[in-house]
Formats: sequence, C-alpha cells, structure tokens
Amino acid sequence: MNNTKNNQYDVAILGGGVVGTAILYVLSKYTTLESIALLEKYPKFGQVNSNSRSNSQTLHFGDIETNYTLEKAKVVKEAAEMVVKYLEGLKGKKSKIFQKGHKMVLGVGKEEVNILEKRFEEFKKLFPNLKKLGVKEIAKVEPEVVKGRNPKEPILALYSEDSYTVDFGRLAESFVENSLKETKKNIYF
Ligand SMILES: Cc1cc2nc3c(=O)[nH]c(=O)nc-3n(C[C@H](O)[C@H](O)[C@H](O)COP(=O)(O)OP(=O)(O)OC[C@H]3O[C@@H](n4cnc5c(N)ncnc54)[C@H](O)[C@@H]3O)c2cc1C
Repeated sequence: MNNTKNNQYDVAILGGGVVGTAILYVLSKYTTLESIALLEKYPKFGQVNSNSRSNSQTLHFGDIETNYTLEKAKVVKEAAEMVVKYLEGLKGKKSKIFQKGHKMVLGVGKEEVNILEKRFEEFKKLFPNLKKLGVKEIAKVEPEVVKGRNPKEPILALYSEDSYTVDFGRLAESFVENSLKETKKNIYF
C-alpha cells in the first residue's frame, strides 16, 4: 500500500530506538518500498533502552561473551560486523557515536583458565584476532588487573582489539539522519 493520504504506508515501524531506526535505515537503503512510517512517542529517537545511560554500550561480537555458544557467536558476529561497517563509514561526528578500544575476558583460577583455554581453541577460527594473554601480557595492557594478585593463582585472558563502545541513542539518531539523506523514499514520523 502507498496511500499516505489515508495514513497507509508500505511499512510502519513502531518505536524509534536503535532497533526501529536500524530497520528504517535498512528498508530505506536496500528495498524498493516507497513509503515508510516510523512512530516514536518521544520527541527524540533512541532515548529509552537505547540511551547511553540505559545500557553498557558494548557492541557484542560473541568472542569474549562466555555465555555465547559458537553457533550464537556466528550470528551475532555477522550482525556486529554490519554495524561496524556502518560506523566506520560515518562522516563527521563519529567519535560521539562510538569509540574503538580493546576488550578482554579474564579467567581466574584453574577451572576458569581451563574454560578459556577450551573456548580459545573452539572460537579462534571464527575470531582470528582473538589472543590468549598470560599474566605478563595482561600486565602490559591492564596493569591494575594483575596488581596485588597471588602469583601462584593462574590467570588467563582472551583479548581482542575489535572492541566498540557505542552510544546506541546517537546511533539511532544517525540511522534516521542517513535514512533521510540516502533515499528518495517518503519517510513519515
Ligand atoms: C543494563 C543493561 C545493559 C545493556 N547493555 C547492552 C550492551 O552493552 N550492548 C547491547 O547491545 N545491548 C545492551 N542492552 C540491551 C539494549 O539496551 C537494548 O537491547 C536496546 O537498546 C533495545 O533497543 P530497542 O530499539 O528495541 O528499544 P528502545 O531503545 O527502548 O526503543 C523502543 C522505542 O519505542 C518507543 N515506543 C514504545 N512504545 C511506543 C508506542 N506505543 N508508540 C510509539 N513509540 C513507542 C519508545 O519510546 C522507544 O523509543 C542492555 C540492556 C540493559 C537493561
């Protein structure tokens, strides 16, 4: 349907958080739909769960999230890489939307170290940038983690430099801005 006089649209998206605005962006850029409505009850987008104060601002890939199975990580990584492609392609105020850094998950004691050793073997093919760090290497990147620890207690980190801290509220605003810029479709708010 494309009868906007009667408030009818090809697609109506309910909610302008990071999810609704990402859908808007994908539909605007990659489909032949002609009219899209995005309904948001607040005056600004991304101000509820997607607001930077409502979440941990982590773009999850599934490599260091030890509650993710390999199967789940494959799916999450694919989606995260699409977000990275979008973020890296942004022009202008990039640094307000995301920052790149490093991340690690730490195993303390024999049992946790064994879990991370096994995880590394299972996940290294999917995540070639994932590294195993022993105590000396951890001390170089995060000295406070090692300071004051019992040297007899084994520790091991899985570490990666593919880490993005994202303000999902600002990302939502950017999705809307770029949906309007990159399409000739009719978008209604
Ligand atoms: C403590 C915590 C930490 C988290 N950390 C992370 C993290 O590190 N990384 C991560 O990826 N995720 C994290 N999350 C989850 C993440 O915040 C959410 O998955 C994400 O923000 C959801 O986005 P959304 O667009 O679905 O929801 P929202 O951002 O809440 O958007 C929904 C929108 O719908 C609108 N709306 C609702 N009802 C109506 C209506 N009737 N009419 C019109 N508009 C309506 C709202 O106003 C809102 O803007 C965390 C969550 C919590 C609670």
